Amino acid sequence: MPNGYMGKILWINLSDGSIKKEELPEDIYRQYLGGYGLATKLIYENMPAKVDPLGADGVFGFFPGLLTGTVAPLSGRFMVAGKSPLTGGWGDSNCGGFFGPEIKKCGYDAILIKGKSDSPKYITIIDDETQILDASDLWGLDCVQTEDKLTEKYGKIQVASIGQSGEKLSLISGIVNDKARIAGRSGFGAVMGSKNLKAIVLRGSKKLELADKDAILNVTKEYNEGIKSASVGAIQAWKTLGTSFGNVISAQIGDTPIKNWGGTVAEDFPMDRISKISGEEITKYKEKSYGCFSCPVQCGAIMKVPEIGLEETHRPEYETCASFGHMCLNDDIISLFTVNDLCNRAGIDTISAGASVAFAIECYENGLISKEDTDGLEMTWGNSSAIIELIKKMINREGIGDILADGTKIAAEKIGKGSEKYAMHSGGQDLPMHSPKYYKSLGFGYAFDPTPGRHTIPSLDMMAGGPLMKPNGLIEGVALPRKFKRAGDDRYEAEKLTVALGQVRNSIGLCEFIDFFQKYPLFEVIKGATGWDLTVDEIMKIGMRIQSLRQAFSLREGVNIISNKLPERAVGVDYLEEFKGFCQKFGWNPENGYPLKETLTDLNLDFVINDLY
Ligand code: SF4
Repeated sequence: MPNGYMGKILWINLSDGSIKKEELPEDIYRQYLGGYGLATKLIYENMPAKVDPLGADGVFGFFPGLLTGTVAPLSGRFMVAGKSPLTGGWGDSNCGGFFGPEIKKCGYDAILIKGKSDSPKYITIIDDETQILDASDLWGLDCVQTEDKLTEKYGKIQVASIGQSGEKLSLISGIVNDKARIAGRSGFGAVMGSKNLKAIVLRGSKKLELADKDAILNVTKEYNEGIKSASVGAIQAWKTLGTSFGNVISAQIGDTPIKNWGGTVAEDFPMDRISKISGEEITKYKEKSYGCFSCPVQCGAIMKVPEIGLEETHRPEYETCASFGHMCLNDDIISLFTVNDLCNRAGIDTISAGASVAFAIECYENGLISKEDTDGLEMTWGNSSAIIELIKKMINREGIGDILADGTKIAAEKIGKGSEKYAMHSGGQDLPMHSPKYYKSLGFGYAFDPTPGRHTIPSLDMMAGGPLMKPNGLIEGVALPRKFKRAGDDRYEAEKLTVALGQVRNSIGLCEFIDFFQKYPLFEVIKGATGWDLTVDEIMKIGMRIQSLRQAFSLREGVNIISNKLPERAVGVDYLEEFKGFCQKFGWNPENGYPLKETLTDLNLDFVINDLY
């Protein structure tokens, strides 16, 4: 077993109750690292092609990154991964908090779930003992109630659970830990719900063996000093306002979608209204800071909102504020706290939920649905009380809420009447709150990444072109080509670098925000954990391997990636041309997005060739 890993993964089959530990060879870790890198390899090989992700053959799991559980800065993230019931292709969802490190403490590098229980169950993993237990008294509870009840029973634990939305198989539901951190995208709440699995409880006491603990401690100390002493720029913004700092500035620069992507700040949601939901206004309700394991930034906050009797709730993130605020022309700050809390408790993704509400409003305003269809709700722009009631209906799948609970693509199919022009999704996943008109490289990522419509995809322009951001180079020895801003060879090379390094970042458990802060000691922390002396070339190859396998998974499922089109309102540059340029650099066929045979061989992915060719 290599240092930095626990050396085992855990398989749990809910159909027959079997529990199996498996040891993986070192070269698998070195080729796939951890997180969704390891997930692609394990799930691709253990899940037959074209199975129903909501059926017993569906496999999904929880994957801490390589560095997760170490003190390396911003490394506490984990991934939920499997086949997405929302897009039909590869699905993953990145989450923070304290659940990921606890997986390692329990002795595992991954927990994989397959099968389907015929009654509600929860799983406890307390060090070496794993049990599948009856969850009938938890079924129907929200995620906060579930975590509280399990904590009462077991004491200090980490819990990941689904709320009512996952139980009701909403395709935009997620899995919640730390009472409000949600692996929200790709629809894994429904996957967990389909298996009748309510929660996973973890408590571990195992220690990670590291190759050179002092080396990690030293670079961590230095990195954290930089974060501590930063008084301006992105670090300071994140520390004080969290991602809600973007509520104003992103709208100002034209990044935030307004009025379901059809409006503008000047005409529809002017700055005097946006300023009512600014990060500063929101943060007035802050009680204390909150952050993920081993993070010196602590960009989260625990809030108290007496106006609605909320004693403890998490600060709404930028994505939540934009989807329920700017997208719905809603400047009622208290309604943002309300819907954020409702969504987190029910375990429904706030991006897709807000996008679905904005879609419903536009349908209503244009006469495609009526007051009769909404059970009397006046779904007009900015009507915050109607927005809150609609979210409750979506959580409970009541009336119009049932139609909207699977995102805008499916809602438009059910409503018909030309409503698809208001459904702002990519491949079934509702678009997040950053515009490809501003960050141009988001276009091809939103359209053609194996998980379409995701704001967490590595994006060249977002990393390099934000108002508070400058390209920090991420790692020693890698610099963006000089002319990366213009279409052409340099730009495609830069996109290759960004996408490959992004896969590595995600697979070692790092928060994506490292791109915006200061140069990260990537090679040093990997070496300190594992002892591996990785080169830039090796890192690049690992990233390309992971992305090519993610892509191959979606292609094997029959997703016609190259035919996917973004809604016109969201289109900036010619994203197909940009993708073709990227494909040439990445060793993929620009005509269809398939990794070339020789690329697959070069990346040790020969096992994929027969599936694709
Ligand atoms: S910056 Fe925020 S989201 Fe990222 S690891 Fe730190 S606390 Fe978590």
